[in-house]
Amino acid sequence: MTRSTDLIHHPYQPPAEFDAPQVGVFKASTVIFPNVAAMRTREWLNKSSYTYGLHGTPTTFTLEERLATLEGGTHCILTPSGLAAIAHVDLALLKAGDEVLIPDNAYGPNKALAEGELARFGIDHQFYDAMNPHDLSARITARTRLVWLEAAGSVSMEFPDLVALVQLCKARGVMCALDNTWGAGLAFNAFDLTPGQGDAPLGVDLTIHALTKYPSGGGDVLMGSIITRSDALAKTLKLSHMRMGTGVGANDAELLLRSLPSLALRYRAQDLAARQLAAWCQHQAAFVQVLHPALPGGPGHDHWERLCVTPKEPQGLAAGIFSVVVDSRFDAHQVDAFCDALRWFKIGYSWGGPMSLVVPYHLGAVRQLANAHLHAGRVVRFCIGLEAVQDLQDDLAQALRQLPT
Ligand SMILES: *Cc1c(COP(=O)(O)O)cnc(C)c1O
Repeated sequence: MTRSTDLIHHPYQPPAEFDAPQVGVFKASTVIFPNVAAMRTREWLNKSSYTYGLHGTPTTFTLEERLATLEGGTHCILTPSGLAAIAHVDLALLKAGDEVLIPDNAYGPNKALAEGELARFGIDHQFYDAMNPHDLSARITARTRLVWLEAAGSVSMEFPDLVALVQLCKARGVMCALDNTWGAGLAFNAFDLTPGQGDAPLGVDLTIHALTKYPSGGGDVLMGSIITRSDALAKTLKLSHMRMGTGVGANDAELLLRSLPSLALRYRAQDLAARQLAAWCQHQAAFVQVLHPALPGGPGHDHWERLCVTPKEPQGLAAGIFSVVVDSRFDAHQVDAFCDALRWFKIGYSWGGPMSLVVPYHLGAVRQLANAHLHAGRVVRFCIGLEAVQDLQDDLAQALRQLPT
C-alpha cells in the first residue's frame, strides 16, 4: 500500500469519551455503509440514519431539532438562506394553475419571486392587505393554494390580526405559511395561537425563518429554516429539498448552534433598546410617525398586544427593529443625507446582528395597495444592534441637527 492510500484510509475514530456539550462539526458528502444491504435499506427521510451529506449530518440534524423545539414544531428543514426557505415552500407546494396570496407589506423578495419565477411557471399571485382580513377573504378562490403571512410586516411594521387571518385560511381550506423571522419563535407561538378564552388553539401550517437575522446574531451567516407540525407536509418538503439539493454547510450550521443559546437574551436586549429609541423618536419634530407595533399608536399595536403580551411576558416581546416616517417637507436627498450623517448606524440590509443599521425607503415604489394609515413622507428603517442605547440616541440626535430647519 502506498502512503497516499494510507493517508486517505487513516483509521481515525472520534474518541468515545470526548463528551463535550458543544455539537461536533460533521462534514461529509459521502457517508460509508458497512455493506450494500445497509446502503439499500438506510432511511434518510425520517432522519433515522445517515446516507449522504446533503440529506443531513449529526450537526444539521441537531440544529434542526433545536430550531423545531424552539418554535414548538416537530419537523425542521434547513435551507441556504431565508429567501431560499420561501422559494422552497413555493416550489414544493405550488403547481401551474395554483394561486398564492402574499401580503403587500411582505419581505420584498417574496413578492419578487412570485412576479418572476412563479409567474413564469404558470403560478398566479395576488397581493393582499394584511391589515384587512376582509381583503384576504375576498381574494381567496378555488385556485388559492397557499397564503403567506408575516407579522410584523416588512419596513412599515404593521402587526396584522394573525388569528383572524389564520382562522380565515383554515375555514377556506387553504394552507398558510408564516414568515416568522420577526418573532424568531420567541414573541408568540405560531403553532399555538390562542384565539380567545376557551377557544381551541390554532396554528399556521408552517413557518419559515431567516436564521440570518436573530438566530445567527453575528451578521456573518446566511441560512433559513422551514418548520411544521404536519408529518405529511414535512415529507413533501423534505422530498423536494432532496431533489433540489439545497442543503447547508456544516460550518454554517455550527455557527448557528453556537449562537442559539444566547438568542433569547439578545432578542430581549435589542427589543428593549429599540423600544427606548422608538419612544424617543416619537418626540422628534422631523419624524411624523414611528412604526413599531409594540408602541401605543404603532400600526397594529392592539393585535401585537393581544398575541405577544402574556402573563409570562407582561411587557410582550418584539424584534429590535422599527421605522420612522420623515416629515414630507424633507426631500429624498435630505433624508439620504440624514442617514449618511449617522455614525453608529451603518448603511446596510439585514438585522439581528451586533451592529445597528439604517436604510431609507420609498414605500410607494414597492407597494401595490394603498397605505392609508401611513403618513406622507420618506420612511427610514432602523435595526438596533448591541451598542449602548445612549450612544445610538446621541447619534440620531446629531444627525437630526444636521437636517435643515
Ligand atoms: C432577511 C429576511 C428574509 C430573507 O433572509 P435571507 O437569509 O437574507 O435570504 C426573509 N424574510 C424576512 C422577514 C427577512 O427579514
